[in-house]
Amino acid sequence: MAPVEKTIEILAALVGFDTTSRNSNLALIAWVENYLDRFGVPHLRIPDPAGGKANLFATIGPAEVPGYILSGHTDVVPVDGQAWSTDPFRLAERGGRLYGRGAADMKGFDACCLAAVPDLLARPLARPIHLAFSYDEEVGCIGVRDLIASLKRANVRPSGCVVGEPTEMKAVIGHKAKRSFLVAVRGRTCHSSLAPQGVNAVEYAARLITKIRAINDRLARQGARDPLYDVPHTTAHTGVIHGGTALNIVPDACTFEFEFRAIAADDIDDLADEVMAYARDDLEPEMIAVAPESGVTFELRSGFPGLETPASADVVQLVKALTDQDDHAKVAFGTEAGLFAAAGIPSVVIGPGTIDQAHKADEFIAIAELAKCGAFLDRLVEHCRS
Ligand SMILES: [Zn+2]
Repeated sequence: MAPVEKTIEILAALVGFDTTSRNSNLALIAWVENYLDRFGVPHLRIPDPAGGKANLFATIGPAEVPGYILSGHTDVVPVDGQAWSTDPFRLAERGGRLYGRGAADMKGFDACCLAAVPDLLARPLARPIHLAFSYDEEVGCIGVRDLIASLKRANVRPSGCVVGEPTEMKAVIGHKAKRSFLVAVRGRTCHSSLAPQGVNAVEYAARLITKIRAINDRLARQGARDPLYDVPHTTAHTGVIHGGTALNIVPDACTFEFEFRAIAADDIDDLADEVMAYARDDLEPEMIAVAPESGVTFELRSGFPGLETPASADVVQLVKALTDQDDHAKVAFGTEAGLFAAAGIPSVVIGPGTIDQAHKADEFIAIAELAKCGAFLDRLVEHCRS
């Protein structure tokens, strides 16, 4: 098993790269490539269309038989406006914890995987381990989509995928699906004293938001339930709104953003359609009767499929056996696992650290968590030898 000191050394290097999603991650990717080169492990870069970022994929062991993917993202959320006690891009150890942006979410897992490389090479594997490092996870699981597409093209058919988001090494078999939309309401402006001659975009937006809220309330009251979630039903929420310039002007534009987070029992597209149908059938006829140029448009902003891996799936059973746990959970946050699963690769989320630390100032991971993950990977490697 990789000594935890080695994992910490790698984590320090990874945290040192400011891979906030708005930045390039190529310096980090080059560092990982260089690391893999030292062990003679071949790797494949899957660049983004603009060339400023890349996924990285590497296979150790016999590529022609099914194995397991260890998947982690390389980007982190911004530190803007957060009060950090130390430099967020310099790993700092205090009291058995390692502080740094991404320490928990999820460079800690990435470091564990890289630290396991010498063990993976020490004796021949009967089944391969694939390392998959993605970009732009934090802004909608963007990068991994091309990585998954390239696996399909290369006919890589893994038995399962482990996505190492922080779960304190508990097996997570489900998360909700998400869709978010930007809505633009176009009305017609006029002086507010002549309000009926205009189409008030803010008011129509408000009616649409009220509709979204009503759907949320209906789902909360009588929607389908999945008791494994903290919030056991599908939710809808409006988070941003912009509109209007002055009280004496009827506003001709209003934009807002809303999202659905759905359990597997609900079809997220049906819910989105219900909102769009209300705009089309109830609001737009009224608006157009006053001003033909008015209307409502919906732009899909981001989304990812939910994860709903059966507890009986081989990869779930394997992960539980290797970590000596009988239990599994579902989590509120989204991950890349839903996309792997949608591509036909049974997936589990399990990784070191806790999501409570993620995205906050003074994000940290406990060294004990890295050790637990190291032990899990050690047993996975052993499993892949037989
Ligand atoms: Zn993450």
